[in-house]
Amino acid sequence: MVRIKYKCTNCKYKFSRNQNVSFKQCPYCGKKDTIQQDTQDTATKILDEVSTYDRIT
Ligand SMILES: [Zn+2]
Repeated sequence: MVRIKYKCTNCKYKFSRNQNVSFKQCPYCGKKDTIQQDTQDTATKILDEVSTYDRIT
C-alpha cells in the first residue's frame, strides 16, 4: 500500500492518502483545489496525524 503525502496550500495542513484515493478537498479547511503533493517531509509525523482524519473522512 502506497501512501502519497500532500499539503494544503491554503492552511498548510499536511496529510497523506492511499495512492488510489482521489480527492480535491482539504480535509482540514475544506478548500478545494488547494492540495499539492508534498515530497519534502518525513512520513512519520504525517502518518500519525492522518490516522485521526481517516476516521472522519
Ligand atoms: Zn487546507
